[in-house]
Amino acid sequence: MRSFTHCPTAGEYHSSWLTATPSQTEGPYYKPNTPMRASLLEPGMPGTKLVIEGSVLTTGCKPVPRAMLDFWQADATGRYDNAGYRLRGHQLTDESGRYRLETIVPAEYPGRTRHIHVKIQAPGQPALTTQLYFPDGAENRRDSIFDPALVMRVRDADGGRLATFDFILVIR
Ligand code: FE
Repeated sequence: MRSFTHCPTAGEYHSSWLTATPSQTEGPYYKPNTPMRASLLEPGMPGTKLVIEGSVLTTGCKPVPRAMLDFWQADATGRYDNAGYRLRGHQLTDESGRYRLETIVPAEYPGRTRHIHVKIQAPGQPALTTQLYFPDGAENRRDSIFDPALVMRVRDADGGRLATFDFILVIR
């Protein structure tokens, strides 16, 4: 398994090895029943292509297969599609707890720095609602919701951006 998080060897194992991903407000634009899809790209969609990949792990550093990730975000002009499901979609992690999302870089909108919303739900567990941020978000410091623990690692790749982020869940 390729994970971006350092996990301990068996001898060092501890059930709270990793810090849980913090939750954040859902905001006003969540919609349930999104299409199941790992790519939110559509023909002619404006914006910089963005791939986000990583794992869903427990605080004990165990991968979480079949966790649901439900993403929603603004488009390249800072608008949400509240009539349909543009730039909304959910997927399940694979057997190694991995996910990969293809999308575009969202624009800022008034009062908010650049961010992507997501709900993560392991089988039989409550959902974690949170948001992901960009290291170069010009408004990060002025956004009262911004949390540096939720900044993705981002680099230029393949004519767009490649971001990595591992979600850490408390499993009860
Ligand atoms: Fe938002």
